[in-house]
Amino acid sequence: MVPFDDRDGFIWMDGALRPWREANVHILTHAMHYASAVFEGARCYNGTVFKLSEHSQRLLDSAALLGFPLPWSRDEIDAAVNETVAANGLSNAYVRPIAWRGSEQMGVSAQLTKPHLAVAVWEWGAYFGEEALRKGLRLAIAKWRRPAPYTAPTKAKAAGLYMICTMSKHEAEAAGYNDALMFDWRGQVAEATGANIFFLKDGALHTPTPDCFLDGITRRTVIGLARKRGIEVIERAIWPEELESFEQAFLTGSAAEVTPLAEIGPWRFEVGQAVLGLGKDYSDLVNGRA
Ligand code: PMP
Repeated sequence: MVPFDDRDGFIWMDGALRPWREANVHILTHAMHYASAVFEGARCYNGTVFKLSEHSQRLLDSAALLGFPLPWSRDEIDAAVNETVAANGLSNAYVRPIAWRGSEQMGVSAQLTKPHLAVAVWEWGAYFGEEALRKGLRLAIAKWRRPAPYTAPTKAKAAGLYMICTMSKHEAEAAGYNDALMFDWRGQVAEATGANIFFLKDGALHTPTPDCFLDGITRRTVIGLARKRGIEVIERAIWPEELESFEQAFLTGSAAEVTPLAEIGPWRFEVGQAVLGLGKDYSDLVNGRA
């Protein structure tokens, strides 16, 4: 794989496009030491970034939740993203805006740091590979649990919240799985390491209430698509004991899109019509065919 710091193209940083290899920060950047960073992940389809303004708004909200409101407006972030996509000559791409505290101050206190913003875009195919879309993923059960809302700012898409995701994903991969299902601090089913989760049972969809993890933009989109198909969607607490009763299961995320699940730990799921149909609906919608 070509390393991410050694590519051609342009990255938008603090108001201007820079050559890709020159989009750097100093090692004494507060974000690097104390995780004072928030980010977004979106996708551009045929030249249009799907739900761009919702992503820009979530970035603003995440930064505000971490206590460093950004001096850019939602429209300015939208424009920066579109400018970066165009400058790189891409029409289908993954989009990664990131905001962070700078290097003006070191230590836990960060009152003097300045907020920064960058936008990078790159070509990125199916997050779990094409085969996963047909066969379904295998998920391990993570040892780490999503923190309680009183333990961390769980509504923010904050870099620090991904520490346990990377650890969980690595452990799953080492055991031959694609990803991990994380429970929350109560022991309820929460989400995967970078995507929300849905289950099908007796014709209805069940998905955990997002009270301590991201209420994903894709999650909300897919709930809308399911209801449009006449499928009942129930948001509720889901306990692991129920996993064996579900017939189909899938993940949703801007990167993961709609990805079927074949296994979670000892439980098996069918890659069936409901999952595949919603995957097609989502693909049609983001590509402007719906
Ligand atoms: N949960 C986590 C931990 C994620 O990283 C993501 C991807 N941003 C999601 C859920 C899904 O969010 P969205 O659909 O807005 O991309």
